[in-house]
Amino acid sequence: MLDNNSYVYKKEVDWSVLQQGVSIPVTIQVVFQTTINKFLPRGQSKDIYLVLEGKTYKARLVNQKFDERKYPNRKDILQIRYHPQSEIAERLRSIFAVSYRYILEERNSLPENQRKFIKVPEEQKEYLAIYTTDYPDTYLLECITQEDTKIIREAMANEDEQEYEASINYNTVDYTATIATVNQMVKVRKLNRAIGETLKFLYNYRCQICGENISARYGVNIVESHHIDPFVESLNNNAENQVIICPNHHRIIHRARPVFNRRKLIFVYHNGVEERIILNQHL
Ligand SMILES: [Zn+2]
Ligand SMILES: [Zn+2]
Repeated sequence: MLDNNSYVYKKEVDWSVLQQGVSIPVTIQVVFQTTINKFLPRGQSKDIYLVLEGKTYKARLVNQKFDERKYPNRKDILQIRYHPQSEIAERLRSIFAVSYRYILEERNSLPENQRKFIKVPEEQKEYLAIYTTDYPDTYLLECITQEDTKIIREAMANEDEQEYEASINYNTVDYTATIATVNQMVKVRKLNRAIGETLKFLYNYRCQICGENISARYGVNIVESHHIDPFVESLNNNAENQVIICPNHHRIIHRARPVFNRRKLIFVYHNGVEERIILNQHL
């Protein structure tokens, strides 16, 4: 089962995060979606608490109203909102100083109508991770800064992909981490694991390739998250880079190294065998 710190969203830091809040498209966040729908209908909002670095800040949670006749299949869009002068916004601007400085400079050099398309370059990107807590109105925020990413990149340079994935899937402790890297490793692995666990829950612990949960008849759930672009190289733990597969398929993929065709959602093996993703709600 999912634990209390369930994954809600991983947001790339942009102007909105630094000023007024985060929009959360409710797609793969199954747990969040079920709990939120119970007490926050469309068009309504409520007070929530955000915990960042052990400190609690007030904010609003809004379930955005939209024309349901115009967009009949649209999922809810939840927003966490705060004021640009609020303490939380100020704190985020100070933690994400790299993004803030970059976007501010870009904004000052661009006409107003182009400002909302400003993207921080790939190697400078920073992220805000949002989790649920034991309390339904309280969310935990964790910041992954450019400095954190730099440290993780150095630590990952000599890591083995399969060992790293095993540490995510089976929550094993990394004894090789040095004191200097341990905080970053814990933070990034927690996010990676939380996204993976949410996806496993979404697929009801079944393999996206064979559609089975062979372990279920033994009363357990054994399914694994595999990174399409190896994490040790890409550092990409986004849901779109994770596929949920059974241990057999996982071993085969690492040994046979098929090429993944993203458009067709097919693993193409070097002997010509093709295997399609048959369960898909997030790729
Ligand atoms: Zn399988
Ligand atoms: Zn893998």
